[in-house]
Amino acid sequence: MTRKHCRKCGAPILRGILHPTGVTRFKPFCSVRCWRMWSLDRATEYAYTKILRGSLGDCWIWSGNRVPGGYGSIVVMGRYYGAHRFVYERLVGKIPSGLDLMHKCDVPYCVNPAHLTPGTRSQNIRDMFSKGRDNRPVGSRCHDSKLKAADVRLIRKMIRRGVTQLSLARKYRVNPTSINKIALNKTWKHLDA
Ligand SMILES: [Zn+2]
Ligand SMILES: [Zn+2]
Repeated sequence: MTRKHCRKCGAPILRGILHPTGVTRFKPFCSVRCWRMWSLDRATEYAYTKILRGSLGDCWIWSGNRVPGGYGSIVVMGRYYGAHRFVYERLVGKIPSGLDLMHKCDVPYCVNPAHLTPGTRSQNIRDMFSKGRDNRPVGSRCHDSKLKAADVRLIRKMIRRGVTQLSLARKYRVNPTSINKIALNKTWKHLDA
């Protein structure tokens, strides 16, 4: 008799499903719990291959998929998770329900649990505004722009010298897309430098 073992716990799976062709198939897991645990293990292994350390201070940069807002994302059991939430839950523990994870480092695709704190959505939004991480247009006509023309000239100079856009975003505490737009001359076009 063919006997299969659960891929997760190794327990024998005795009951197979008899197909019309006469072949008995066995499920790879003994239980939903084992399937879930195995999927989490696989996702965790995958997640660790997507974390780059050392390129931006002590931030853990997510090199996998990113959503337009800048957060990393990962698929676990067919569902999308924020990569920072996933890594935090694997290393620290469950995020209290209804809470966001706030980035103390302002790098949305950072997944270092030491840089993340659970907080309410309104706290997160307040925090984002106070740090200027929201996607406001950048340019001299924008009164609340965080960057001055001198900053922009310096940023372009540093990019030409090979300084990464990520580290500049961090240095100036702005969204990395703002730096990217400056690099591509999408904003601050009027500056010649
Ligand atoms: Zn099992
Ligand atoms: Zn960080």
